[in-house]
Amino acid sequence: MADCTYTVPNKETSADNFYGRVICYQPFIDWAWSAFNFDGDYWQDGWGYDDCCNTDKPLARTFNALWLLTYSADDWQNDSYDGNALHWARRYVTDNIGGFPLRADCGPGGKNATTSGAGCTEYRETVKYDCTNYRDDGYNACSRFESSCCDWWPCSWACKIVSWFCIAWYWVSALVCTAWGYVASWVCTIGNEIANAVAGNKEIKLWNTEYFYGLTVPARASCLLHECRHIGGKAHDADFPSWSNRTPGTSGADSSWEYEGAWMYDALYLWWFYAAGTRTTPAIRSFAKDAANDIILNCFSTRPSFTVL
Ligand SMILES: [Zn+2]
Repeated sequence: MADCTYTVPNKETSADNFYGRVICYQPFIDWAWSAFNFDGDYWQDGWGYDDCCNTDKPLARTFNALWLLTYSADDWQNDSYDGNALHWARRYVTDNIGGFPLRADCGPGGKNATTSGAGCTEYRETVKYDCTNYRDDGYNACSRFESSCCDWWPCSWACKIVSWFCIAWYWVSALVCTAWGYVASWVCTIGNEIANAVAGNKEIKLWNTEYFYGLTVPARASCLLHECRHIGGKAHDADFPSWSNRTPGTSGADSSWEYEGAWMYDALYLWWFYAAGTRTTPAIRSFAKDAANDIILNCFSTRPSFTVL
């Protein structure tokens, strides 16, 4: 960390004091080190490897987030995907982070975290989403054509036949579209695996100073879930909108809440933590609420019609 500098903001208002009291427990640290795929080479020296309970340092501040991510559901051992995000978020992260070493680094500025090497699953999922949208828009166009066509026989029959061909066309072409997405992603995967084996570029990077010193503990937890949603197959698919407090017009936003991308997972987790998080304080839950609303108001090109109240 010789090249990085940082200042430690107020540890009450970042929640680091609160969680710093519970993380310093060797069995938890040993479990988290392997479950979250830490890459030891990246956490030495000033990052905190030899000082892993010191919440001035990045490693302990990351453990704070992982403790929150693991233990905030009332019955935290229940990690079923049928439950709310407090239950499954830790599992989603550990299910997806395999093969993506968790690393800390001096940041480029302006970023909390980045995931590299997730491109192929992202490609397939995004294509599937686009193809389904294309098909549904097509179906709508076909039925609009039929209903606005004519209602006197035999013209109405001709309309029905044309509409039927129209629907069949969209059905078949959407299948081809989706199938192409799969084939392309297999090709991509093979290519990427070779490239990754050579370059070793599959990873999650947590950036100094934004991740460790710009985010509260709950936002660090949800940020990791966000990154794993990228690994799980959802790339950002929109630019930040004109009203965003990020940089409007640059990529990195999601099109909508319904896209179920990284920003939705991020905000959803914070929302549940605010509503039902345990082993925490009301003040820390309110930090999560503020972070959720910041995402909802700024990170979707179609702004959701709700905020966290
Ligand atoms: Zn992202």
